[in-house]
Amino acid sequence: PQPNPQAGAAVKAADRAHVFHSWSAQELIDPLAVAGAEGSYFWDYEGKRYLDFSSGLVYTNIGYQHPKVVAAIQEQASRMTTFAPAFAVEARSEAARLIAERTPGDLDKIFFTNAGADAVEHAVRMARLHTGRPKVLSAYRSYHGGTQQAVNLTGDPRRWASDSGTAGVVHFWAPFLYRSRFYAETEEQECARALEHLETTIAFEGPGTVAAIILETIPGTAGIMMPPAGYLAGVREICDKYGIVFVLDEVMAGFGRTGTWFAADLYDVVPDLMTFAKGVNSGYVPLGGVAISGEIAATFAERPYPGGLTYSGHPLACAAAVATINVMAEEGVVEHAARLGADVVEPALRELARRHPSVGDVRGTGMFWALELVRNRETGEPLVPYNATGQAATPMAAFAASAKAHGLWPFVNMNRTHVVPPCNISEAELKEGLAALDTALSVADEYTE
Ligand code: PLP
Repeated sequence: PQPNPQAGAAVKAADRAHVFHSWSAQELIDPLAVAGAEGSYFWDYEGKRYLDFSSGLVYTNIGYQHPKVVAAIQEQASRMTTFAPAFAVEARSEAARLIAERTPGDLDKIFFTNAGADAVEHAVRMARLHTGRPKVLSAYRSYHGGTQQAVNLTGDPRRWASDSGTAGVVHFWAPFLYRSRFYAETEEQECARALEHLETTIAFEGPGTVAAIILETIPGTAGIMMPPAGYLAGVREICDKYGIVFVLDEVMAGFGRTGTWFAADLYDVVPDLMTFAKGVNSGYVPLGGVAISGEIAATFAERPYPGGLTYSGHPLACAAAVATINVMAEEGVVEHAARLGADVVEPALRELARRHPSVGDVRGTGMFWALELVRNRETGEPLVPYNATGQAATPMAAFAASAKAHGLWPFVNMNRTHVVPPCNISEAELKEGLAALDTALSVADEYTE
């Protein structure tokens, strides 16, 4: 990368003057001006390069600027940049076919949205119309998107400011042995008690009022908590017992992230609706959607589905999805993520945990890993308090600053750092990033007791 600080200064000045950023106190942020990106790296206008261990917001599953996907977008742009959703269009048809071929079970119809949050909105609307019931159950420690319904379903502090209280959402605790809400000591206990808690919640809410249960198959931003064996199958059973629609949110976990096409494949579970976005086209053009079961699709066979979007199945986004899925298949990206996850990331992170007192827990699969950073391994006290800001968040900020100084762009949320690089990252790049992580963890260690 060629340094060009002057150009960077202009980009930064216009950003600071006019761009209103997501989730931020506008005067307290300092966005890095980015000059370019390729593969697993991006660089700034000073010429400093970063290895992206966050895949943007966990979406560049095939890295930046994959030449085949860029070419497919260019080709689609030259042929048919856009077309309204009511028509049958090649890129849209082909994207739907390739997605439906990979989704589990009979999730064979695809409703396209612009991103993840609106996929969740539509999944919930479908479930309510299908069942004629009002409520939706979702988990604490979850994220489902920033729109009104999706943020109400979310089980993290991003919900609080927008909680409407009328959205018909009931939260419950999903299993997470490391911070068990159920006083469990084994995964089996955690699983059984979490299922019992869910079923009791349904009993007290009134089974006939619950339209859907929505879960991230493996919660992402909330901490990559792998559900214990039997949990998702148990939720499936509960849904069947009470006629509740089971929605799995695979916006973050889907499309290769877990070393399988979908996280649901790891657990052999088939939901009634599955949301996706992000990795479907590596985020090159905004795209999300809902994969719909035969039974729910049948509800809308003779009765119109009351919902839609101007850009549903946008040809440019769908062409990017077709190219991305084909690249992933041709280049074995999913298998690559599984192999590097098992052979390189897991042993390396477990070794870091042995050496760094700040690492309390390591969990994940494929290219989807979390390190839980703690002040004290015995008590599990988080390195920073839940939802800490400002001064209270200093230890995590110091950790992140050290990673960046060593050329690693980390994913940081609360007291965790996630190792979520592109699924096609090379082994050498991965090792380079893990070495920088090792150095940054020494900074986190300074805050342990
Ligand atoms: N669902 C999950 C599991 C997510 O991780 C996200 C975003 O991070 C969303 C939904 C919302 O997606 P979007 O930001 O594309 O609306």
